[in-house]
Amino acid sequence: MKTSGKFGKYGGVFAPETLIPALEELEEAYLYNIKNKKFISELKDLLANYAGRPTPLYYAKNLSKTLGFKIYLKREDLLHGGAHKTNNALGQGLLAKHMGKKRIIAETGAGQHGFATAMIGALLGIPTEIFMGVEDIKRQQMNVLRIKACGAKIHPVEIRPGIGTLKDAVNEALKDWITNIDTTYYLIGSAVGPHPYPLLVRDFQKIIGQEIKKQLMKKERKLPNAIIACVGGGSNAIGAFHEFINNKSIKLIGIEAAGKGIHSKETGATINKGSNGILHGSLSKVLQTKDGQICEAYSISAGLDYPGIGPEHSHLSEIKRVHYDYATDKEAINAFKLLSESEGIIPALESSHAIAYIIKNAKQFKKSDIVVINLSGRGDKDLETMKEYY
Ligand SMILES: *Cc1c(COP(=O)(O)O)cnc(C)c1O
Repeated sequence: MKTSGKFGKYGGVFAPETLIPALEELEEAYLYNIKNKKFISELKDLLANYAGRPTPLYYAKNLSKTLGFKIYLKREDLLHGGAHKTNNALGQGLLAKHMGKKRIIAETGAGQHGFATAMIGALLGIPTEIFMGVEDIKRQQMNVLRIKACGAKIHPVEIRPGIGTLKDAVNEALKDWITNIDTTYYLIGSAVGPHPYPLLVRDFQKIIGQEIKKQLMKKERKLPNAIIACVGGGSNAIGAFHEFINNKSIKLIGIEAAGKGIHSKETGATINKGSNGILHGSLSKVLQTKDGQICEAYSISAGLDYPGIGPEHSHLSEIKRVHYDYATDKEAINAFKLLSESEGIIPALESSHAIAYIIKNAKQFKKSDIVVINLSGRGDKDLETMKEYY
């Protein structure tokens, strides 16, 4: 490998020997293409004309009035596909095309990343296959149908009768990749995995923060006091934060899913509750037992119930550049309702965790403060879950 892929002590490559040549090939293609004019202009064109970038930065007047400071929403919910995941799928899909790969595979939990990948597979004309746990297939019928509608194939993953979720789907996708390395591109869904994935996913998502900076300068002629994003694997958060990391006067706040409570076993708060360990190819914080068994994570929002987190976040937490807080299911549900009713914007339950933080901590902000929330996705997919809370 040309670079170590370390963020402080986190990250790196903890992968079987057989995967190393593929990771090296990917690193090389990535380092070449991020400077390749043809790649850059193709990506720029698709981000604008296919995906709909730039997404608006919306001043949430009613919510601002209720909470007592200025709130802007970065509208990734308006991106084609309904979430920020399209930025990453598009970037990596185009990379697969430039590498001459004939087949794309991906893992998916809630189905959102599977759908984003299936969309891009259709767009670029590359056959796409999605690995999905049998339990998730049952829970996420709408996304299963979306994936099929885009012409992708679904591989149900079942480790024991009726058992199979996201981490099993990742393992199956990796096994498939090892067997078909020459023809196949593995399109990972968040800023996780072995190097170079955390780096390249971040680079395909950092456009979020770059746009926030430009748009806010135009509207307010200043930078925000704080940027807040929900954290699952950490791709929308790192995308929103990256542009501002060197400017220490800007507070960066990542919100994890506390699930049923930070002290309960049903939680997804990896930074707040996890410890150092290796999961899916890199060293980071993980939710694990004392003897290193990976725990099942839990959150009402399927996009946040991952027992790991991207290595760059573990590092940013350790050096205290980003503050990682959390919100429970209940707080996210209330935030979902408040934003929907005050602005007519139905947020994803994932994004609702970030909104829950400013509701809970409204007193921390002054009247003149400008706070940007990264609204990572739209909430149509969550209405079935929300039905029982209305
Ligand atoms: C997948 C998803 C997330 C969590 O993933 P990150 O990699 O942490 O961004 C958050 N919000 C939405 C809407 C999602 O679909």
